[in-house]
Amino acid sequence: MITLERVGKTYPGGVEALREVSLTIDPGELVGVVGPSGSGKSTMLHLIGALELPTTGTVTIAGNDLSQLSDNRLAALRGRTIGFVFQQFHLAGGVPAVDNVADGLLYAGIGLRERRRRAGNALERVGMGHRLTHRPHQLSGGEKQRVAIARAVVGDPKLLLADEPTGNLDSASGAEVMDLLRELHSGGTTIVVITHDRDIAAGLHRRVYVRDGRVTA
Ligand code: ADP
Ligand code: ADP
Repeated sequence: MITLERVGKTYPGGVEALREVSLTIDPGELVGVVGPSGSGKSTMLHLIGALELPTTGTVTIAGNDLSQLSDNRLAALRGRTIGFVFQQFHLAGGVPAVDNVADGLLYAGIGLRERRRRAGNALERVGMGHRLTHRPHQLSGGEKQRVAIARAVVGDPKLLLADEPTGNLDSASGAEVMDLLRELHSGGTTIVVITHDRDIAAGLHRRVYVRDGRVTA
């Protein structure tokens, strides 16, 4: 599903966020990326999510070498293949849950009624079928994250990338969100989760440890 071959990423200004990273993630894996703040975890997820290109080395996603794709093809790859979940939820304020989720299908070329129908199904899948018309400020943190996960998976992406999805949650809601990710994983979705939480990391079958821009274990 994902191959990084001797990947380096240097940001303008000279920060070497990743060095010589090689990594393979197979279809159907659930992988944690673990490491301290500033170690390069988000950078790695941005490369895997085709949001950024490497400075050196090769990133291949679902058979596509990212450096060979035009910006349009990269955007299409992200839209069709990858769902994103963030620590800060990134829901649209004042917008009902069902429409926040339906926005995950904006690029799928289907009408509003069908987008809403699928959004309702996705909210059911994450246990939020009773919160269709709630707006973000009317939801708890854990509920907001479940809505955000519904938005990420409404288009049935092959790959789900989560950057500290439990970072803003109390431990009980965090555990529920992780249970939900495990459930989606059993349904066949490949998932990569960034975390610096030891307990969350301990519950993941495969862990990639990052330190100072290198994979250490
Ligand atoms: P983590 O997710 O582990 O906290 P990051 O990948 O966010 O680590 O950051 C790795 C390093 O790259 C840090 O030194 C960070 O300051 C730097 N960095 C991240 N994004 C940028 C950027 N857009 N421009 C410049 N430096 C960045
Ligand atoms: P957080 O738990 O991250 O503080 P909030 O509930 O404050 O989440 O906000 C979630 C999103 O909803 C944000 O984009 C915020 O700007 C927006 N939002 C919160 N309250 C309202 C409101 N009363 N009307 C419109 N948008 C709101």
